[in-house]
Amino acid sequence: MLTASADLVFPRRCPVCDRPVRPFGALICDECSNKPVRTEDAAKYGVFCRKCGRPLKTPESVADGRCGSCRDQGHLFMRGTAVFMYAGMKDSLYRFKYEGRAEYADYYAGEMALKLTGYFRPDEAQLIVPVPLDKNRQKSRGYNQAGLLAGGICKRTGLPLGEHALERVRRTLPMKSVTAAERRDNLKNAFIAHSNDVKFKMIMLVDDIYTTGATMDACAMACLSAGAAGVSFITLAIGEDA
Ligand SMILES: [Zn+2]
Ligand SMILES: [Zn+2]
Repeated sequence: MLTASADLVFPRRCPVCDRPVRPFGALICDECSNKPVRTEDAAKYGVFCRKCGRPLKTPESVADGRCGSCRDQGHLFMRGTAVFMYAGMKDSLYRFKYEGRAEYADYYAGEMALKLTGYFRPDEAQLIVPVPLDKNRQKSRGYNQAGLLAGGICKRTGLPLGEHALERVRRTLPMKSVTAAERRDNLKNAFIAHSNDVKFKMIMLVDDIYTTGATMDACAMACLSAGAAGVSFITLAIGEDA
């Protein structure tokens, strides 16, 4: 985390507007702090998917208790949740991932820590595990955004961090250009979990975005194969129910 003196030399930027934060010393501008839409505030019916936690948008989803995506596709994780709706966060997440704005993690991890402790029972998060990046990608980017979020969550909650519990073992194709089915196929066996870290534990996966859950399922599969007792997740942002 940056100190006050580091802030003087490199003014901290706001995760929403990317300008130096006002007031000085805060993690987000006062006027920006209400801009990212929280999942609770987007819940038209006040109901959330019991698997992925996204606010349900249609009467069909409400009747079923699951979002459209979770009705189409079963999941290996138990349940999950997210802090913010993805719409409106695209620019911020792009800068966070690709333009070196690692400092955003301080604000984001704080929000995730609050959500995690309010949403899950303590026995659902025995090890906090970031979704890993491909090693080459991490090298060129310098950091893994999920790793920064997971580290920040552990700093705030005191929960143990399994930084290397999961590894990405196979280089995957860029996600944007493939269909959901191809994506799932592509991700299968992309991760391995280390049994020494995960065995008999309830794993809490951490990532920046949840879309279809393909990544979470691939990570859950690796953790369960290595002896984990169960897997849940928390992400910073989630897409809408469709
Ligand atoms: Zn701002
Ligand atoms: Zn869902």
